[in-house]
Amino acid sequence: MTDPIYMDYGASTPLDPRVHAVMDDCMRNDFGNAGARVHSFGMKAAAHIDLAREQVADCIAAPKDSIVFTSGATESNNMALFGVLDYLRSIGKTHIVTTAVEHKSVLGPMAEIEKRGFTVSYVQPKPCGMVEGDMVAAAITPQTGFVSVQGLNNEVGTIQPLAEIRAVLPAGIIFHSDAAQAVGKMNFTLDQCGHPDLVTLSSHKIYGPKGMGALYIAPHIRAHIKPLLFGSMYEGGMRAGTVATELCAGFGQAAELVHIELADDLAKMEALRTLFLKKLKGTLPDLVINGHSDAAWRAANILNIRVPGITNEDLLAALPDLAFSPSSACNATRTGHISHVIRAMTGADQPARESIRLSFGRFTTEMEIVRAADMIINAMQTIQKMQGAA
Ligand code: PMP
Repeated sequence: MTDPIYMDYGASTPLDPRVHAVMDDCMRNDFGNAGARVHSFGMKAAAHIDLAREQVADCIAAPKDSIVFTSGATESNNMALFGVLDYLRSIGKTHIVTTAVEHKSVLGPMAEIEKRGFTVSYVQPKPCGMVEGDMVAAAITPQTGFVSVQGLNNEVGTIQPLAEIRAVLPAGIIFHSDAAQAVGKMNFTLDQCGHPDLVTLSSHKIYGPKGMGALYIAPHIRAHIKPLLFGSMYEGGMRAGTVATELCAGFGQAAELVHIELADDLAKMEALRTLFLKKLKGTLPDLVINGHSDAAWRAANILNIRVPGITNEDLLAALPDLAFSPSSACNATRTGHISHVIRAMTGADQPARESIRLSFGRFTTEMEIVRAADMIINAMQTIQKMQGAA
């Protein structure tokens, strides 16, 4: 028996031991409620949260007070999308633009928002997964008040040209980006990415704890965003509920590590991806790579592939010791899985039934990549042989 290999960093990353150490210390020693700043226990907890806010803000080059901590990217996306609705209604803007390749935590709220009387346009991507500025511009109407475009696609790794998209938006439109997968996988700073007004962040995609995330809210639109949770005055009144000090401290440490180690992380992942592809391509002549082919526009840590005729369902069954995903974790089923992202990119169901996402990261070794490639080649060849014999 050999250990299974983890190739699902896109779903969640392992906790970095340095993050664990900070959380452990915080849990053992600083259990106070950060809202209770009237005594030293509360103040120590508040100090952790203050530091974390600074670390997360620095990671995307944002002002410290613009970060609101949440329970994760799903909540941040919901907060951005539902929080702005009353404001949009008040100025008579009832149209929203997003893309067909967003994560479900954007598409789900959009479906609900449509039920509440707004219209939503879903821009279809190019075959590489990219949505360009002129494609977004074509969807804008005089009623458009809000545009939401992800930073980096979680399934195929395509990077969206946010600065280009921002440049085509008429003044006054609120621009949101779900950067849950972008931070740590590219140089995602507000300046680099067209200064979105709202940015969604997640801790467990950058080696931090689960159940933790943040929403960056540009100071000039803060008054237009309503909280999802009302009650006590935590997070500057933007989110009621006692802040989870240890999760915050862990997220802060994880963000600081991204800030310090991004270049090294990216170089390592690019080398692993190159090795992975070289092994696969050398033996699988029909291999198709989903996503952008230019390294400047794709994540270094995601490889989304398919071989025509082999379904992801067959591969999941054939590869019990390889942890990978038929698309994103939130959509993963073991049978008959069709990715909405690949379907939008190709306009067909079959490629979406065949594609698999392999994602790796900071703790992946070359040996694991070589073993994983051998396992995939072996599984594909076995399936092809069985299909030939049938
Ligand atoms: N957005 C994207 C692009 C994601 O990949 C994910 C996680 N799969 C989420 C949002 C949701 O993140 P969380 O688990 O922090 O709620």
